[in-house]
Amino acid sequence: MRLRRKPWIDEAVKEYESFVHLKNGEEHKGRWREVFPDPQAPLWVELGTGKGNFISQMAQLHTDVNFIGIEVQLGVLYYAGKKCAQAEVHNVHLVRFDAARLTDLFAPGEVQRFFINFCDPWPKKRHAKRRLTHGNFLARYEQVLVPQGRIDFKSDNAALFAFTLAEFKAHGWRLEEVTYDLHHSRLENEAMTEYEAKFSAKGQPIFHCAAFCPS
Ligand code: SAM
Repeated sequence: MRLRRKPWIDEAVKEYESFVHLKNGEEHKGRWREVFPDPQAPLWVELGTGKGNFISQMAQLHTDVNFIGIEVQLGVLYYAGKKCAQAEVHNVHLVRFDAARLTDLFAPGEVQRFFINFCDPWPKKRHAKRRLTHGNFLARYEQVLVPQGRIDFKSDNAALFAFTLAEFKAHGWRLEEVTYDLHHSRLENEAMTEYEAKFSAKGQPIFHCAAFCPS
């Protein structure tokens, strides 16, 4: 999802500055709990939040959880901010940040659960290291997750899903809830993302797995 740069967004996003962090997210490393009304609640993090459908719905469903959405593109983050403001949720913070630098944003054991939804597939083999489920990324997630912490992954892309399952296995993650058709499975799908709605409307199956940290 590459949005054309819209200069008005630089100004408009300031309306959400109480919960949208455009720079210096690192300042909260190890202390994210302090930015939420309930500092004792677990922290669930979505990587590549997009326009915020998923995180705004999840925050409404799980008022006893703190959520952080990480998104690299400001033009998309603005819409996620707008959606969370409209949903009147107070348990979400959004951070403009590159997931590749995740260990600068979170301290060891700070995150209970990650969600990776419809991440860019980077189909060319020479770009495999950019996929958010490449082993190099899994090592970063492992550093900041609690012991046995969980990642939920959803995608429409069969090649990326096969790659992801192989990476999790190769790095010792335990897999559960693996399905090649989430919407027709016994698994609960609590909230849909923008991409998920688009692909499933076209009749494409949605793949899902949950993976548990080896350490
Ligand atoms: N998760 C949303 C959905 O399912 O509708 C958006 C999917 S879109 C294909 C992928 C999103 O991840 C884009 O908004 C992109 O800017 C973001 N993204 C890609 N690489 C990222 C990275 N390294 N760190 C943070 N966000 C990233």
